[in-house]
Amino acid sequence: MAIQRTFSIIKPDATKRNLTGAINAKLEAAGLRIIAQKRIHLTEAQAGVFYAVHKERPFYGELCEFMASGPIVVQVLEGEDAIAKNREVMGATNPAEAAEGTIRKEFALSIGENSVHGSDGEDTAKEEIAYFFSGLELVG
Ligand code: ADP
Repeated sequence: MAIQRTFSIIKPDATKRNLTGAINAKLEAAGLRIIAQKRIHLTEAQAGVFYAVHKERPFYGELCEFMASGPIVVQVLEGEDAIAKNREVMGATNPAEAAEGTIRKEFALSIGENSVHGSDGEDTAKEEIAYFFSGLELVG
């Protein structure tokens, strides 16, 4: 499997509880390199653009409000099979269903406030990275 890049977010529930370092330690232990990272605070409108794919879902408003409720850390992760590997380390969307040792099992508060986001495919990874980072900011 080739070296890939994926996009990751440490969500407001996790930054508020000072879990950025603990989450980064899990990503790095899984062999993912953090090649770009910044702490930002989205507006609800910016969160809405990022999550536009979920516009029709009943939780869309709540999700945008949550993502704008505090700082987030946006990241680009690089490594072998990085997209699938990150999804594995994150665990299932609902922490009640997440496997032992995953970020969401250990840290997530609920299906909505679930501590991390990770791209689900190559095309979305490219789009999401480009939404938050310029090429110059990716230091592999
Ligand atoms: P994932 O983040 O695991 O890829 P989805 O793409 O299905 O999951 O959903 C995006 C985000 O929307 C989730 O991470 C979570 O924050 C929120 N979400 C998903 N399902 C629900 C739900 N039933 N109620 C509230 N928020 C939800």
